[in-house]
Amino acid sequence: MPYIQLKNLNKTFGKNHVLKNISMDIEKGQFVTLLGPSGCGKSTLLRCIAGLEDVTSGTILLGSEDITHKSAKNRKIGMVFQQYSLFPNMNVYDNIAFGLKMKKIDKKEIEKKARDAIAMVGLEGKENEYPSHLSGGQQQRVALARSIVTEPKVLLLDEPLSAIDAKLRKSLQSEIKKIQSQLGITTIFVTHDQNEAMVMSDIIHLFNNGTIEQSGSPVSMYTSPSTKFAASFIGHYNILTMEEFSTLVGCDFEKMQEKLIAIRPEVLDISLKPFERDEKTYQFTGIVVDNIPHGNVLRYTIDVNGVKLRSDVLFRSFRLFENGTPVYLCVEKRNCLILSDNSAAEIVSSGCRNLASATEGF
Ligand code: ADP
Ligand code: MG
Repeated sequence: MPYIQLKNLNKTFGKNHVLKNISMDIEKGQFVTLLGPSGCGKSTLLRCIAGLEDVTSGTILLGSEDITHKSAKNRKIGMVFQQYSLFPNMNVYDNIAFGLKMKKIDKKEIEKKARDAIAMVGLEGKENEYPSHLSGGQQQRVALARSIVTEPKVLLLDEPLSAIDAKLRKSLQSEIKKIQSQLGITTIFVTHDQNEAMVMSDIIHLFNNGTIEQSGSPVSMYTSPSTKFAASFIGHYNILTMEEFSTLVGCDFEKMQEKLIAIRPEVLDISLKPFERDEKTYQFTGIVVDNIPHGNVLRYTIDVNGVKLRSDVLFRSFRLFENGTPVYLCVEKRNCLILSDNSAAEIVSSGCRNLASATEGF
């Protein structure tokens, strides 16, 4: 049985229907991420799970217990917010030990647990510092230690790294992941950053306007988006109408006029010479119209009879193709994905298909 079950959760604020029939199963020890643009309801869902907000309808089960109407302090759920929200008048040690002191447990035990948590987040030596003297990253370590020290059943993290600069953010991502797996604590993490979701999660739930658009492992979310929204939010997919796609490959997909085709930039190969003929691929020609370095990747834009395509190539050499260069392009048929209409209901029943399987017999 799943450890956490959300069943048909709805939340409205006045006329604003913020969570629309959200259902989700989470296994014990899993690291689950709610990914989505700002305003789509991620924090609201987290706050409902924590008991900081009442749901309008639906059920929340933790273990086999119905906690839907339990008070926040009796749910045994820890939460870390984007804004560090530490007690400014308490030092690091007291901030971390606060939750334990509230429980009125033995003083020695409090001290042991607080020291363990401090060590776990790497803050030894900072016990007597006050929050105003700590960096953002250190403050977030305190917030993390403060929430794990009480050994909650579930850890909720609401964009905990959003206010932290890029480099430190990467190292905190891997630290959070390490602590989570050491403790084996079931964790729900919120972010609007697809890369962060990819590196941290066992399962990603992509949110769109109060509904779950698509769920899956990072790899499946990246390689098999089901809808236009998913393909544009995760990765930098080329999204083509069937008419544009027919222009590229020179076939007519009459039966699928309404569908969209998604192609990842890194599966589109470029060459100055023709590719070897292979019936598993589509091959066509175009002209390079733009090239931009993105760190270790060069992103080309190629014009194919008026259709613009992005192609990503690892930046292993000097610039390979100047603007204006005629090039040959090749893409495996199975990497041309058919997107469903933009409705979450359809995805569940149909899943994602690729063009190679959908056009068998064409
Ligand atoms: P996210 O975390 O994905 O950015 P939120 O859950 O914070 O999104 O917000 C989703 C929607 O709910 C927004 O339209 C927001 O204005 C609204 N909302 C959130 N909290 C409240 C509240 N306490 N009262 C009224 N509306 C709210
Ligand atoms: Mg939020």
